[in-house]
Amino acid sequence: MAEMSLSEIVFPPPKYQEYVFGCWTIKAVKSHIMGSSCEAPTKCDDSTEQPCNLCRYERELRLPSLPDMVFASNLLQITHRSGGSISFNCLDALKCVNDREDTIQVAHAEAWKEARADCEYAKKVVKPYDWTFSTNFRGTVDGLKVSDSTERIDLQKLKIPEEIVFYDEVFLYEDELDDNGSTRCVVKVRVMPSGFFAVFRHYLRVDHVIVRVNDTRLYSPSGASYIIRETSSREAPISKLNIPPPIYKNPDQVWQHLPLVSETVDKLSPEDL
Ligand SMILES: [Zn+2]
Repeated sequence: MAEMSLSEIVFPPPKYQEYVFGCWTIKAVKSHIMGSSCEAPTKCDDSTEQPCNLCRYERELRLPSLPDMVFASNLLQITHRSGGSISFNCLDALKCVNDREDTIQVAHAEAWKEARADCEYAKKVVKPYDWTFSTNFRGTVDGLKVSDSTERIDLQKLKIPEEIVFYDEVFLYEDELDDNGSTRCVVKVRVMPSGFFAVFRHYLRVDHVIVRVNDTRLYSPSGASYIIRETSSREAPISKLNIPPPIYKNPDQVWQHLPLVSETVDKLSPEDL
């Protein structure tokens, strides 16, 4: 067998899906998990303009560690005919993770450390960064105008069964916190005759301590040249959740049981409108 490079052997090519809906084009890219070592040791140094994904992450992020599963090439991008877009990718999501602990994090970490004093993983908590990889990422907006919105997304209307003409689900990162819970970022999109709907969700569960869901929902009705964007942050200590584990371990179900902590609503539209 002829000699092949590592990338040729291990990695299948990325999968692309694209769907045009009125003045919007929705693109999803799904690729392999990023490796844990440099892909081009002879080429990647501080002067390289295009380092491999891992070196780029280490250069651009100030986090002392990365989630176990990083999908560095995955992308969901929604682009208006004018060229403006909103996109969701792993690097930008991780850029919104605190490189220091906030007071809430410390409080939870203390409770968690106390509950698991004999656990090796608890020692990691003392590191001054958000070891849960909680992100307040709301999508990278490029060339779209962000303005206040009085219009809200009608979630009840979205529950009405309708034909789904396009669907995709794109993972950005995931980590099992050394078997002590789960932190994951996923973005999903679906297009129906009445409009398109996307949800970017960060789900965090630290066992015995907390469940948190940060969601950013996008909705654009058919024919509209704007997107309503709603971001909500919900969380509760597990001790105060009166729901069974199969529900609080399910990111797609638990958010409905969590109290709202904060919310932001705005609207994205082409700059020339
Ligand atoms: Zn590299």
